[in-house]
Amino acid sequence: MLQSYLQDTWITPTATATEASAAEVHDAVTGDLVCHVSSEGLDLAGAFTHARRVGGPALRALTFHQRADLLDAMAAVVRARREELYVLSARAGATLNDARYDVDGGIRVLRDYAARARAELPDTPFLVEGPAERLARGEDFLGVHLCTPSPGLMLQVNAFNFAVWAPLEKLAQAVVAGMPSVVKPATPTAYLTAQLVRIATEAGVLPPGALQMVVGSVRPALDLLEEQDVLSFTGSAATAAKLRTHPNVVARSVRFNAEADSVNAIVLAPDVQPGSPLFDAFIREVVTEMTVKAGQKCTAIRRVLVPREHESAAHEAISAELAGVTIGNPTAEGVRMGAVVSLAQRDDVRRAVRRIAESGRFVHGDPDKVRVIDADAERGAFLDTLLISADPDAAAPHEVEPFGPAAAVLAYRDTAHATDLLARGRGSLVASVVGDDLAWTTAFVQKAAPWHGRLHLLDSTNMAQTTGHGSPLAALRHGGPGRAGGGSEMAGTRGVVDLMQRTAIQASPRWLASLHGEPSPAASDSA
Ligand code: NAP
Repeated sequence: MLQSYLQDTWITPTATATEASAAEVHDAVTGDLVCHVSSEGLDLAGAFTHARRVGGPALRALTFHQRADLLDAMAAVVRARREELYVLSARAGATLNDARYDVDGGIRVLRDYAARARAELPDTPFLVEGPAERLARGEDFLGVHLCTPSPGLMLQVNAFNFAVWAPLEKLAQAVVAGMPSVVKPATPTAYLTAQLVRIATEAGVLPPGALQMVVGSVRPALDLLEEQDVLSFTGSAATAAKLRTHPNVVARSVRFNAEADSVNAIVLAPDVQPGSPLFDAFIREVVTEMTVKAGQKCTAIRRVLVPREHESAAHEAISAELAGVTIGNPTAEGVRMGAVVSLAQRDDVRRAVRRIAESGRFVHGDPDKVRVIDADAERGAFLDTLLISADPDAAAPHEVEPFGPAAAVLAYRDTAHATDLLARGRGSLVASVVGDDLAWTTAFVQKAAPWHGRLHLLDSTNMAQTTGHGSPLAALRHGGPGRAGGGSEMAGTRGVVDLMQRTAIQASPRWLASLHGEPSPAASDSA
């Protein structure tokens, strides 16, 4: 039975939970039982009170720079024990490369936030934004925005696919903002997040109450959220809709951020010729997105938009690359792609690709057959890489997210058709646009930008340096409109400040000076 970490103690849900009532989590590769997960009988109210009364005050007492030191310390302890996380990641189907994406990516985001907090925020517990505005004719009545830490907690409700990066990315922002966190990992990979929390808490780098974790259901905890709390959700659009409209979340105006699923795209511009280096870079992006973490990335490319005249060249080139992708036990020599997280997830992907293929055909791969290395293809949650050619005007390719190693090629007639198709995703985290014709790309971006949280513009001058379509970066906003959840994370320290309360202050210059600890002339005069 997987333990939760509440009120600075590891707790087994012994009270009423039995193995029969708890969820079973299986190894993605062997099908063996890994653990049982349950939150039955756990004192979530006590955990929330502990975060608010113990963790919050400890973090708020620190300056931004001192909070940055906590992130550096956390990054160091996770780095020192990252091998343990790699080993557990393999049980979730991840290759070493996939695990590094998650684990090392998480360490990087902690360090990045530490550096940004030191460089961009003052060595105080609060922030005064911008220069003071004169609000009256004289000089004695000014206005500023004061950003102070909220005396609440962040409840993270996370998806299964980034069990290390996601909690660390959210924790980094919460710590700098002076907020304690309660992390709820998704059940299929909860054991991985639990090990991360164990590593952090055994090293004792964060103040008591700053980090807690509950595994299993947190549905009752949503009633415990209060006005100063933040509910930070990552997962499917369907769950996001439930949480967003939860009566207590609505009634108490609990701040809600959603990073939901999206049907991300890549667009090949008409000027890119098959066989050119830029065309090859486009193919590499598609194949990387389909195969890293077996396509279980929120940002992964699901729709590949190509000009009609290059459709068969795209089919051939992508299929040729996919044919070289070896699939199997992620720890075996030479395996490039592991398994999806569970047999249930494999079934979901099979259903999704069949729906998309109703208007077309499978160009590469068969959803029911896969050749695997050093594993049992039935006991493990393995899937072949699946490339579909679909009718671009059908609904399914724009609506169904196959959360696995799958993508659909959609041929567009002209630029207007391409922009139209892109928007039919109803809001995405990211799209790539690949082309050298600046006039075309510039006009295309004007139309595409409102539908996307991020646009990755790939051309011949930057293709050797790109960080890739799929990588959210701490400096940039991660989040997208509409179906993608309408949320925003990271965006450097702007994201941190958005977690704080921004209060408009109207006051005298002497009050503002005293806020910064400067001597006040008027006060000393009167003394
Ligand atoms: P999910 O089924 O929506 O679950 C996400 C989280 O919500 C899990 O922790 C789950 O807990 C919890 N949950 C489910 N129903 C709940 C409820 N009624 N009340 C409270 N919590 C609830 O998503 P998933 O299958 O884990 O993740 C895959 C999806 O996440 C994909 O669609 C992917 O696109 C999306 N995703 C988006 C991003 C992004 O940044 N935009 C990143 C990663 C993944 P249990 O597991 O215990 O049910």
